[in-house]
Amino acid sequence: MFERKNVWNEINDTEREEMDIISDEYLSFLDNSKTERLAVKEIVKLAKKNGFKNIDEFEKINPKDKVYVVNKNKNVALFVIGDEKIESGMNIVASHIDSPRLDLKPLPVVEMEGLGYLKTHYYGGVKKYQRTNLPLSLIGVIYNKNGEKIDVSIGEEDNEPSLFITELLIHLSKDLNQKKASELIEAEKLNVLVGSIPLKGEKDNSVKANILKILKEKYNIEEDDFQIAEFEIVPSQKAKYAGLDKSMVIAHGQDDRVCSFASLKAILSIKETSRTSLSLFADKEEIGSVGNSGMTSRFFENTVMEIMEKMDGFNYISYKRALQNSKVLSADVTAAYDPNFSDAYEITNSAKTGCGVTISKYTGSGGKGGSNDANAEFLNEVRKAFEKDNVIWQTGELGKTDQGGGGTIAYILAQYNMDVLDCGTAMLSMHAPLEILSRADLYETYRAYKSFFKYI
Ligand code: MN
Ligand code: MN
Repeated sequence: MFERKNVWNEINDTEREEMDIISDEYLSFLDNSKTERLAVKEIVKLAKKNGFKNIDEFEKINPKDKVYVVNKNKNVALFVIGDEKIESGMNIVASHIDSPRLDLKPLPVVEMEGLGYLKTHYYGGVKKYQRTNLPLSLIGVIYNKNGEKIDVSIGEEDNEPSLFITELLIHLSKDLNQKKASELIEAEKLNVLVGSIPLKGEKDNSVKANILKILKEKYNIEEDDFQIAEFEIVPSQKAKYAGLDKSMVIAHGQDDRVCSFASLKAILSIKETSRTSLSLFADKEEIGSVGNSGMTSRFFENTVMEIMEKMDGFNYISYKRALQNSKVLSADVTAAYDPNFSDAYEITNSAKTGCGVTISKYTGSGGKGGSNDANAEFLNEVRKAFEKDNVIWQTGELGKTDQGGGGTIAYILAQYNMDVLDCGTAMLSMHAPLEILSRADLYETYRAYKSFFKYI
């Protein structure tokens, strides 16, 4: 009879040691990649260390070359060029590096009754009440009047202050407690508390004036500069092991940086390859993959064309074949079964924590709406690849059929007539400020992507 395997029961001591090393690396990747911009920097840093070079450095691209291409500082592609012609297709692992969070509004600084705040606009699917009562950091970029680009990060270091969104005390919550969870905190209440000292001599908005003075002194920026800035508010907490047995990882943004990290590790481990391998790291997945750094941007097409141009010269039919013959793992997280909320899941078909990487034939909602729905022929190919390396894998569905659902970037790459399968790590508390997953599943996700690159 079919039963899922538990990774902890299956792996040997050598594998366990490798898992421990990879888990440590994962924690530091998470801490260095709290926004998509930082993730791109970290991915490029690690890629360069492993012999990857910017596409502009190549006059001609040859088999075995390792090439990276960055788009808008928020989106990156890593290629290991194969010995076969690119026309025979690429093996692609496509993840995303943006996460649900709060962004600052264009004019964020306000004062209310002697307290200074930054106003936010939430990004992606968040339960708004979960964003309160947490130490928060402000990370982003802003241009000052001289046109200098300034990287700002406040709250990440121990000696830096934390920011915070308050919530009503229980003692006064008689009315609030009657509300539906979705209405507990409205978006316009997601104001980040940033100060309470008035600027001496200032009559109106003196706390706001003091906040602006601090920003001017530290970064040489002024209130109106915020109008052209990009700032994100993320939890300050560093990534940590979780559980008394340290079997899990708790951190911000593991959707989808767990798959991004596994994909990165897998492509960095490639020495040589017959088919060209490609790790894609997209932005904007959480808001529908739109925008020029999202998966629907022409960046992907343009980049493949540029690579081909620098290999044998560009040819339209070869380019189309290269796309159509490619095989893709859409590397994104899925829901792990949560026994505390069993009503939302169908137990037999839910992914289980610790039982390996999860493949999802389909995602979507309301009867596979918006889903890629992979073909049995491709599922067969992927299973064969996984089994060559004894990858521990399971299937998963995002909860009960009529309970909700969600999509990934799978359908976007399927438009090129590529074979695409959703394949990633199961997690608990998805889209919460801190998410939790098993590092055994992280390990098997990495092994799965490695096998995919190697055997497909
Ligand atoms: Mn995701
Ligand atoms: Mn998500």
